[in-house]
This record gives sequence, structure tokens and C-alpha cells, in this order.
Amino acid sequence: MAVQQNRVTRSRRGNRRAHDALVAGNPAECPNCGELKRPHHVCGACGYYDDREVVAQADEIDLDEDAA
Ligand SMILES: [Zn+2]
Repeated sequence: MAVQQNRVTRSRRGNRRAHDALVAGNPAECPNCGELKRPHHVCGACGYYDDREVVAQADEIDLDEDAA
């Protein structure tokens, strides 16, 4: 098992973590609904990608269609 040889000081630890911050993505507007979405991903608001609907939205699915 690897055992650390030297204690990392609060200062060095902090300096290392100075570059650990998460950065925001690069959101782009959905051309269909205008919602902000991730580039090259299906729009989470309307389910559109490349000008066509690829994911049906929950309010459009008829849950009773095979109940009869
Ligand atoms: Zn959209």
C-alpha cells in the first residue's frame, strides 16, 4: 500500500484545489422552444433535436391508450 511521505499543508492543499472549481457549460438556445440547452444534446424542455421531435414529452403520452 502506498503511504504518503510528507504532510500536505493547508496552503498546498488550497493551492491544488484552486483549480478544482466547476465551470458552467456553454448553453445554447433551443431553436424550437428557445429554452437554454446543452449543445449537441436533445432539448430537455421540448425533446427536439435537429429540428425534429426525438423524445415525446410526458404531457403528450396517453397513458390510457391500451386500457380499453
Ligand atoms: Zn426546446
